[in-house]
Amino acid sequence: MTIDDAPREALRGGPRELLRWVATGAAVSRADLSRLSGLSPSTVSQRVEALINQGLLEEAGAGRSRGGRRPRQLAVPTGGAVVGAIDLGAHHARIGTLDLSGRVVQGRTLPVRIEDGPEAVLGTLLAEVAALAAAPGDPTAAGTASSATGSTTADGAAGALRGVGIGIPGPVQHATGRVVSPSRMPGWNGFDVAAFCADRVDVPVIVDNDANLMALGAHRMAHPELDHAVYIKAGTGIGSGVISSGRLHRGAQGSAGDISHCRVVADPAPLCSCGNAGCLEAVASGAALVTALRDQGVSVSDLTGVLRLIDDGDRHATALARKAGRAIGEILAVVVNFFNPQVVAIGGRLADCEPLLASMRATLYERCLPLATQTLLIERVATSQDIGITGAAHLVIDHVVSAS
Ligand SMILES: [Zn+2]
Repeated sequence: MTIDDAPREALRGGPRELLRWVATGAAVSRADLSRLSGLSPSTVSQRVEALINQGLLEEAGAGRSRGGRRPRQLAVPTGGAVVGAIDLGAHHARIGTLDLSGRVVQGRTLPVRIEDGPEAVLGTLLAEVAALAAAPGDPTAAGTASSATGSTTADGAAGALRGVGIGIPGPVQHATGRVVSPSRMPGWNGFDVAAFCADRVDVPVIVDNDANLMALGAHRMAHPELDHAVYIKAGTGIGSGVISSGRLHRGAQGSAGDISHCRVVADPAPLCSCGNAGCLEAVASGAALVTALRDQGVSVSDLTGVLRLIDDGDRHATALARKAGRAIGEILAVVVNFFNPQVVAIGGRLADCEPLLASMRATLYERCLPLATQTLLIERVATSQDIGITGAAHLVIDHVVSAS
């Protein structure tokens, strides 16, 4: 082991990792956990007991014996405790309840108007999440969460809410849960989301920005085994989330990964909402593409319209998408050279735009050190409306486990 490996090694066999191994079916018994973690059976037993006492794990009958006493099987409770999740966008919010393994029990998409302000928007969404948690779960939506252990815990029972995770489409100061200078959220600047929500629900509320939620959700769903990853969320706005040593890296204040106001080479350099010119967001976000096309006299009302023009092979729209891809690639190349991730994945609505992806990828290879790109995976984030709420749920699960 090198010194650089130390932080990840120190986590090996921590309560979060034990829980994740059971949740993913990698382990079904204490013996499995001992083998995977390299920890002694007594240490594993101690940690498992603590997780059981917290209601985060349960015993689920006897497993197969390899001689001697049959081991007791472990499972993540699926019918009882749930976490609530809100993934807020400018026009829609995806809300849901998820079990403690991070699987969706119930999910709904609701229309929102972000400009109605935080009290109205969050008040409504919190009430909806509480109603979901109090309602009987849909067994079909819970998937096969318990299949690894054959557990048959009460699907359909109302869940006890253990916490709520919320994603905001703007910068969030992590320690306080406050929104700070968001671009397209009138009335939200300085709003204390965590305090507002804590007054309305009697469980921990964790607030983060939407790119971090996507990063955490995508990492846990697709590549939990990779330690270093960068996720770009490119939709109306543009941002990124960083996974370092297996964990979400927020930096000192929570702004790590916010690439929206990094400067790119653009001539002319369009003005950004932050007051500077040539920011990535002003060149390569969905909102920037809409503005640029309108400036060229093309009648287009939103990002959906832009994507349709690109699909139809419109010359102006395709050229702008390529330019946006180059700009994202330029910034990403700096990030990759600096951070050396194992995977870079792009999600959000622009991830389906082929000309943008192709030029982003080409720029990345052109501008990165060979050592940084030799084994680098460049992917799309899996298209799932539940990526954000999955990330929100893991924020809460990680918090609950840390506190146990
Ligand atoms: Zn800017």
